[in-house]
Amino acid sequence: MKEMPVIDGEKCQQCGLCVSVCACGALIIVGDAVKILEVDECRWCTLCELVCPNGAITCPFEIIIEDDQA
Ligand code: SF4
Ligand code: SF4
Repeated sequence: MKEMPVIDGEKCQQCGLCVSVCACGALIIVGDAVKILEVDECRWCTLCELVCPNGAITCPFEIIIEDDQA
């Protein structure tokens, strides 16, 4: 299964920052919580995790840049 950002609804304060930085339109605020709207749209940039002031988003993946010159 594709790994996705995990959103802790208890920590989320619905500020909308994560939605605004997600260039892929993968996040949306529904009612009182952020939801993953389009799983296939996530490009694992981790920006949502970085901007969340409440630590409500955890990306269970990391970006590895491989050096082809090695
Ligand atoms: S990791 Fe990036 S593309 Fe995926 S939901 Fe977060 S901000 Fe959007
Ligand atoms: S940035 Fe964090 S607190 Fe703000 S809406 Fe997104 S998950 Fe919620």
